[in-house]
Amino acid sequence: MTATADKHYDVIIIGSGSGNSIPSPAYDDLSIALVEEGRFGGTCLNVGCIPTKMYVLAADAALNAREAGRLGVHASVDSVDWDSIRERVFAKRIDPIAEGGEAYRRGTETPNIDVYDQHARFVGERTIVTGQGDTQRTISADQVIIAAGSRTSVPQFVLDSGVDYRTNADVMRMDTLPKEMIILGAGYIACEFAHVFSALGVTVHVINRSGLMVRHCDGDVAQRFTDVVTNNWDVHLNTVIDELSADGDDIVATLSDGTTVRGQELLVATGRTPNGDLMDLDKGGVEMTDDGRVAVDAFGRTSADGVWALGDVSSAHQLKHVANFEATAVFQNVLACRDGGANAESRLRTQSKGVVPSAIFSHPQIGQVGMTEEQATEWAQANGKEITVKVQDYSDVAYGWALEDTHGFCKLIADKHTGRLLGAHFIGEQAATLVQQCVQMIAFNIDCREAASQQYWIHPALPELLENALLGLEFDEA
Ligand SMILES: Cc1cc2nc3c(=O)[nH]c(=O)nc-3n(C[C@H](O)[C@H](O)[C@H](O)COP(=O)(O)OP(=O)(O)OC[C@H]3O[C@@H](n4cnc5c(N)ncnc54)[C@H](O)[C@@H]3O)c2cc1C
Repeated sequence: MTATADKHYDVIIIGSGSGNSIPSPAYDDLSIALVEEGRFGGTCLNVGCIPTKMYVLAADAALNAREAGRLGVHASVDSVDWDSIRERVFAKRIDPIAEGGEAYRRGTETPNIDVYDQHARFVGERTIVTGQGDTQRTISADQVIIAAGSRTSVPQFVLDSGVDYRTNADVMRMDTLPKEMIILGAGYIACEFAHVFSALGVTVHVINRSGLMVRHCDGDVAQRFTDVVTNNWDVHLNTVIDELSADGDDIVATLSDGTTVRGQELLVATGRTPNGDLMDLDKGGVEMTDDGRVAVDAFGRTSADGVWALGDVSSAHQLKHVANFEATAVFQNVLACRDGGANAESRLRTQSKGVVPSAIFSHPQIGQVGMTEEQATEWAQANGKEITVKVQDYSDVAYGWALEDTHGFCKLIADKHTGRLLGAHFIGEQAATLVQQCVQMIAFNIDCREAASQQYWIHPALPELLENALLGLEFDEA
């Protein structure tokens, strides 16, 4: 124990999102402090992936009803019961899981775990303080895991304006649906919420500094997405907010293109900042990268001996499946170091699993993995390679006909010589699911020609889109 610590543990875990998956039977003989200042379960469970997708389902149901006319089914949306949607998501599903998770960690079934529910900051090597005043505790450990996640970055001009704004942390728990909403941002969080609120009947004004929505996607995908959503939402491209002000219950945004938009709510979705900057990391000897993440090596080790990091606080990818994988590695690495021995180093597991897929659950949906065409072209030029690219429309395959699809497509990019898939991009129905087979192809290095020809493709299911796209790639050798 350090001189100032009230209690010493084998392991301290800061953050109960992905960090909470680490204590398990293999950790039963370790004393653990789990520090969580917010709701148990972290971003994904409480304010991120899971509730947003539950809202997306409600939004899709409303949209499908409105669009069913093109299938000859005439339906309409009579009303949207926001209270019942919110209750289904939070009161019935999310909150009981979060509360149950905390009760479990505090209960008799995990006697080796102490839960601390206030902010943690470093005061020395593997030593942290949580709480203030009477509730302040100083704890230390042999090993510390920083799994503190990230938070919404709120632009200074919004803070300076003094107007009320919402983020993903509270927008899903609003008392009522507004008539109009201003959404600042054009990344995946902004686009998922724009879909949700628009489909539920809110007029959304999306303000995007750049000329493309979801501009980090493949160029053609971003362009198609932009084209589709500008028909459905009030999108302002190449525009910034010059002035924000309150007018009674409304928020008024004066835009750089001279127009004015107003809404009863302003949603800020302009990116996320890793939480390491709020933890006095330097006092624990933990270094950060220039872009504000906790610096880690391939195994999740920070610059401080015995201190690990995982997830949004340290990762270049702010995605739950990445945080989960990194947590699995740290889980094993902490045990390897604790058991010690000459070969502890050789038992360390890497935090990376190669290319990272992602999805945007907006309308249209996007699923992607690997290089964009722009990146692949650059890669080919730099390395003396040639690529082959195939774009296949949903409307080319039977299920696309059933969908009456007009905008969906799949783009594959492969190495013309080796047959290796370099990137896959889907925009349209089931895109997040369709891309998974391409994730497998890249992970297991499956040749595009073999993937196309060495398996049955269920007819007339949507994966026929991928089959046709694979068959359309042109290789040096057939
Ligand atoms: C709206 C939204 C939608 C998303 N949708 C998806 C999706 O569809 N798919 C996907 O892959 N990813 C999605 N993400 C991203 C995903 O939620 C995150 O990548 C993931 O939850 C990060 O997990 P984590 O364990 O690193 O951090 P978190 O889950 O954020 O956990 C960190 C925890 O640490 C606590 N904490 C922070 N600092 C301290 C401190 N100093 N002391 C004590 N406690 C502290 C926080 O309260 C938090 O509970 C979404 C994110 C948002 C915001």
